[in-house]
Amino acid sequence: MADITYKSKINKIRTFALALVFIGFIIMYVGLIFKDIEWLMLIFMILGTLAIIFSSVVYFWIGMLSTKAIPIICPSCEKPTKMLGRVDACMHCKQPLTLDKDLEGKEFDESYNSKKKRR
Ligand SMILES: [Zn+2]
Repeated sequence: MADITYKSKINKIRTFALALVFIGFIIMYVGLIFKDIEWLMLIFMILGTLAIIFSSVVYFWIGMLSTKAIPIICPSCEKPTKMLGRVDACMHCKQPLTLDKDLEGKEFDESYNSKKKRR
């Protein structure tokens, strides 16, 4: 078995959006270091703002995805979680979950979600 802990897709995207906010602020902070060079500071400020705008777009996207996700009760920890695609992991206990009976009991594989990368 692979030694990777699988994260729920929604949680993964949420972490990514949060990271973007931080990256945006870091970029803007770097811009302040160059406040003597006006055009350079401006570039950093614009990049930082773009990163923050993009993160709110990602947050909006999570909201859209959440409405499409299928709410289920995790069989492992019995907490409600949401599933995206044919295979996903529980948000709470990282238990791999599947909606497809054919894949049940098989090793958890993210590639089942994409048609191109099927082994
Ligand atoms: Zn669970």
